[in-house]
This record gives sequence, C-alpha cells and structure tokens, in this order.
Amino acid sequence: MTALWHQQQKDIEAGNIKLKAFLQGLVSTVTKEVEEVRARGLDIEVKGHHCPTCKKHLLRKTKGKSGYFWGCRGYPDCKATFPNKGSKPDFNSKPKSTGQATDHACPECEKGKLVKRTGKSKKTKKSFNWYGCDQFPTCKARFFEKDGKPEIPDQEDA
Ligand SMILES: [Zn+2]
Ligand SMILES: [Zn+2]
Repeated sequence: MTALWHQQQKDIEAGNIKLKAFLQGLVSTVTKEVEEVRARGLDIEVKGHHCPTCKKHLLRKTKGKSGYFWGCRGYPDCKATFPNKGSKPDFNSKPKSTGQATDHACPECEKGKLVKRTGKSKKTKKSFNWYGCDQFPTCKARFFEKDGKPEIPDQEDA
C-alpha cells in the first residue's frame, strides 16, 4: 500500500492526479480497512484462541477418539476442553461440566484427584455439588458433598 501511495505522490507531483482525488482515495482506503477490522474482529491479530477458563493459555486442536476437540495448552494445570465446530472451538456449547479441581485424592483408584461438579436433582430440581474422580472414565468414583467436602465413606485400613 505504501508503494501505491508513493506512486500516487509521484503522480501528484507530476500533476496527474488532483490532490483532492488523492485525499479521497486515502480516506476511502482507511475507511475500508477500519470496516474490515470491524467486520472480521480480532481474529486478525489474535492467532489462536485463548482459553476462557484460565485466560492464560491458548487452545490446541487435538484429535480425540470421537473427532477433533480443543484442549488448553495449560494442561494439566487447566483441563478445559471445548468441542470443535467448523474448525473453531465451540465456546457456546455447555462445557462437559469441567468441574473444579480439588486437593482431595480419590480413595478408590488412589491416582486421581476429585473434581467438584454441580448436578441437578431431577426430584427436587435443586442443584447440588458432587465429586467425581478426574480419572473418569477409568475410575468411576463419585461422592456427594457434605459440609463443603466430599463425603467419603470411612475405609478400613488394608
Ligand atoms: Zn486453560
Ligand atoms: Zn479415582
């Protein structure tokens, strides 16, 4: 574009283009660019998609068993994943209840950590918290919440 303007300035000097026409061209060029940025949004500058969960890392497109999905590059600190929709992460889809990581170790597999999730009772229509193992589906441990903690039944020491 600079080269083009340079040529036009030369043209002005040569008296080929009237100054007014040049300025009008300049204005319409800038206006067009601004409109383009507006229309296309920030995609031009942001290469990649920021993770809306941790707001720190970019998302990475990964091929999973059931097709592509987007996972946070901050894994394992951030376990956010999003389904793929038209080669973009679908932020509008309900997250697969990403849950909130806790420091409670899973008493069943002793490998995983419990993740706090929110569910809704079909009976009472009230939402409640429960805890699931982050090794799911390998480990299917689930616990209800009691006093803000996972209600883990007492285990006999082996
Ligand atoms: Zn993240
Ligand atoms: Zn477990």
